[in-house]
Amino acid sequence: MIHRHDVIIVGAGLAGSRAAVEIGQVADVAVLSKVYPSRSHSGAAQGGVAAALGNISKTDRWEFHMFDTVKGSDYLGDQDAIELMVREAPETVIEMEHWGCPFSRTPEGKIAQRKFGGHTLDYGKEPALRACYSADYTGHVLLHTLHEQCLKHNVHFYSEFQVLSLIFENNKAIGVVALDMVNGGLHTFYGRAIMFGTGGYGRAFKITSNAHANTGDGLALVTRVGLPIQDMEFVQFHPTGLWQSGILVTEGARGEGGHLKNGEGRRFMEDYAPTLMELAPRDMVSRSMQTEIDEGRGIDGKDYIHLDVSHLGEAKLMERLPQISELAMNFAGVDPRKEPIPIQPTAHYSMGGIPANANCRVTIDEKRTETEGFYAAGECSCISVHGANRLGTNSLLEALLFGRRAGKQIVEDLPHLDFGELPADYEGAAKEEVDRMMTSTGKEKVGTIRKELQETMMIDCGVFRTKGQLEKQREKILELQDRYKHVTIDDKSQRFNTDLLEAIEMSHMLEFSGAIVEGALQREESRGGHSRKDFPKRDDEKFLKHTLAYKQDDGSWKLTFDKEVILKGIHHQGFEPMERKY
Ligand SMILES: Cc1cc2nc3c(=O)[nH]c(=O)nc-3n(C[C@H](O)[C@H](O)[C@H](O)COP(=O)(O)OP(=O)(O)OC[C@H]3O[C@@H](n4cnc5c(N)ncnc54)[C@H](O)[C@@H]3O)c2cc1C
Repeated sequence: MIHRHDVIIVGAGLAGSRAAVEIGQVADVAVLSKVYPSRSHSGAAQGGVAAALGNISKTDRWEFHMFDTVKGSDYLGDQDAIELMVREAPETVIEMEHWGCPFSRTPEGKIAQRKFGGHTLDYGKEPALRACYSADYTGHVLLHTLHEQCLKHNVHFYSEFQVLSLIFENNKAIGVVALDMVNGGLHTFYGRAIMFGTGGYGRAFKITSNAHANTGDGLALVTRVGLPIQDMEFVQFHPTGLWQSGILVTEGARGEGGHLKNGEGRRFMEDYAPTLMELAPRDMVSRSMQTEIDEGRGIDGKDYIHLDVSHLGEAKLMERLPQISELAMNFAGVDPRKEPIPIQPTAHYSMGGIPANANCRVTIDEKRTETEGFYAAGECSCISVHGANRLGTNSLLEALLFGRRAGKQIVEDLPHLDFGELPADYEGAAKEEVDRMMTSTGKEKVGTIRKELQETMMIDCGVFRTKGQLEKQREKILELQDRYKHVTIDDKSQRFNTDLLEAIEMSHMLEFSGAIVEGALQREESRGGHSRKDFPKRDDEKFLKHTLAYKQDDGSWKLTFDKEVILKGIHHQGFEPMERKY
């Protein structure tokens, strides 16, 4: 079946939904999502969304927010896009407030703001209260507010449609092919503009804070039509995942005053970041924790650390951190009012993704050549506001703000965009993939391959990396890709065939994981979330560059380091790389 809409958006998280609100007011827009829209991972975000409103830290300004973001990115962020983001942040958040988003409040009724790692006043002098929040349900309230706005503006939702391929020819995006999860069968969606807001890929790792749906589909689909993906080696490990499950305990817990303690009961962050302590940037706290664990100072010598919030008192915990209190009780069996929470670093966020410029147009090379009618925003994109490491609360901001920008850009571009011509075999690639799975008879199981990928990515491409480990992991992925060809599924039915859907997601994870490993191997330095034990220093001379990874027919990746980082803002002179203080 063919569906025709002016604009097709894949993804109903904050990025996709925010763009849809903009477009729905003037054009016919359809949003496809493989989960029910309000179950998108954005809804799990707890801690907050950054904007220099100055409601509590009265002297806060966008310049400080820009400095923190650039520094946090370890100078790999593109500063033109960062400037846009921090300057437009206040209006983006206030717009959500005006649409009825129930933020927590200050006593005088303004949006409440809390501390988060790496956010400071006066260029690093003292912590800033910049994260706008709604208890620890910030993503949930933002997503629901946006969904209401989508319904108000006649956005057409196709829920539980899993996109399997992108139709892209002569540098123009033409449409997507999706599987109707409820009834089975392929549907082709055909539009003048196509936007991806397909989210992150944490599920490629064993310990992750990400939802099961976060399998990086969008990244794999663009590489299959020959487009590159950018800066994939940068994976953010959040310091505080619940031990063994990886479920997130928001950084807000440390923002509100929580302490990290090692097996000796000591606040070990004093050895690594004596000023910022627990509120140092995430990459640094994760490395410090992993070092404690690796050197035998985990709790009882095991692979976890304690997060202690018991001294905050029951009233504060119930007011500010109710969700994580409940999660700790249900998933770790501890009562955070009385006992410390066992935690370990968890794969959390993908800094890399589909290269796009600040107008959210997808680009194809180091010269930033634009595609036609193809846009990306949110976690799947790499507009590169986070560079090598994202600061907490900058991602909800990015998804909202660049979703908004993408929507406005598409509205502006629509009069100049035509429907492309569908190629003769427009369903070809998707049909072949489904048919192959449905008739497969091999001996391999998706579950086994997934487990092996997740475990080895965690060990050999995790918080710390070495050449030897990465070479091993590159081989492992090739082996798994080979074995994947012999995968068979048990369920051969049409309706809600999760066996089939998971098998397809598995092929995506095997693909982009190769790009993560190849980037990590070739980037012989340590920067932001990428930490090489054999190259512990940042090397600006050689590596102050974005990587672009192109998939090759034999499953390997070709990498280029030719894309320059933009070191100037649009109006602001920008910030030059400084020596690291840690
Ligand atoms: C537990 C947790 C807590 C977080 N807390 C914070 C926080 O406090 N502050 C902050 O700034 N950031 C936080 N983040 C990060 C932030 O939530 C995300 O980066 C952001 O919400 C991503 O939004 P998005 O719209 O890009 O993607 P998502 O919200 O992940 O949405 C992706 C959408 O794409 C759809 N999709 C994907 N593949 C397909 C396909 N093949 N076919 C059809 N549809 C598809 C999905 O159905 C979904 O609708 C947190 C993340 C996690 C995991």
